[in-house]
Amino acid sequence: MKQSTKTSPSKPVEAPTNRGTSNEMEIAKAEKGLKVYSYSCVCDSCVCGESGESCEQNTRIRDHASEISRILAKCPDIATLIVGPCQSKITCHKTLLGFKSEYFDGLCFGGFPSSESGEIRMEEEQPEAIAAFVSWLYTGRISSTCTVAPAALWVLGDKLRSPGFTNEAMHFLFRIYYQGTFITAETAGFSYDNTTSGSKLRLFIKDVILNEGPLSKETELCSDDIESWRALIRQGGDLLVDISFEGSFNNFICDDDQRMAWYYQNHHKYLEPITTRPIEDFLQGKPREGTRNI
Ligand SMILES: [Zn+2]
Repeated sequence: MKQSTKTSPSKPVEAPTNRGTSNEMEIAKAEKGLKVYSYSCVCDSCVCGESGESCEQNTRIRDHASEISRILAKCPDIATLIVGPCQSKITCHKTLLGFKSEYFDGLCFGGFPSSESGEIRMEEEQPEAIAAFVSWLYTGRISSTCTVAPAALWVLGDKLRSPGFTNEAMHFLFRIYYQGTFITAETAGFSYDNTTSGSKLRLFIKDVILNEGPLSKETELCSDDIESWRALIRQGGDLLVDISFEGSFNNFICDDDQRMAWYYQNHHKYLEPITTRPIEDFLQGKPREGTRNI
């Protein structure tokens, strides 16, 4: 049975327990002190105890490293992101920003004034969230010490039009719910408030609620938690419609992992297609042409 642990967008996320596959332990050992090792993975191989070469997270990190090493070797220009009301400065290679984010591709290579000055103002964003994004750009990982909730990182990735980052945040969510966290009203409300109909985050949250019933007796909610759900349901909106049409808030499907949103065979439902300009465009310094839908 699941243990009731809490995550919410506004509070630090507890680092998931590292299940200790050999590769993760090597990474953790190599980077001890830097504290940038990734959360552990729940792909097919890792769940079956194989991990290593066939682990999907390892493959993603390897591919990411290979792409960015090509970019960093050829494109030295740096952009300065000026983030939040305190105007924290975070620097990053311009081409890396553009290659992994449609938003930054437009700003850095779309002929805007910021293309020239190298300064990009992001006053409405949180420095911690942007730092997590930039850290992912360089490492392909979201640090398990990141204090921003993965649902908030998913929303940031969506805003920056970076499907690679939203997918990494989604893998973090798979891990959190796999390890036995019950969804909170705060996370559900935040996810619905900050996404539109048809988003992968909404789909995931809806399926977690339908399969794991936050109001079922198994979750052993305290009165404050119940009150939070009551307040959220009282607001109505898309969340209530989505859940009401397909089931209820108090189903609990035990012993049927395959139906769970975090089960590895279901991951594909919640991941975005990766779209970017070809890496050669960036390596050859080609400007961006128009806007594409992703
Ligand atoms: Zn894996």
